[in-house]
Amino acid sequence: MGKNRVNLICLKHIFKLSYPIIYVPFLNVNGMALFPFILINKPAYRNDSQIIRHETIHLQQQLELLILPFYILYAANYIINLWRYKNSYQAYYHIIFEREAYANDGDILYLRKRTLWAFLKYIHANKSV
Ligand SMILES: [Zn+2]
Repeated sequence: MGKNRVNLICLKHIFKLSYPIIYVPFLNVNGMALFPFILINKPAYRNDSQIIRHETIHLQQQLELLILPFYILYAANYIINLWRYKNSYQAYYHIIFEREAYANDGDILYLRKRTLWAFLKYIHANKSV
């Protein structure tokens, strides 16, 4: 019991680390989380706390799912959403990992208060984004 508590505290510490930001001019989105890096397509985004927070949420999701399964689940969720909404824009915004990130990237305290596997709260499609 005590040992598990210590492990959880260590995990929390790891999740608070900040990640290296890399400027990739040819990136076709503003930001992207590619563990352990945050990629941005404009140097100014280095100072855009909302973009950095959004991508950091994704890096935490990736870490919690041991990286590779995150990408598989992300793609599977997108494909299911495409079938469900018949619209790529809707399919993207309804991916549970995006729901969590968009719902909280404006909250400066979110990364400090976020709980493990917080994206599970967004599994229901009718929950507000
Ligand atoms: Zn995102």
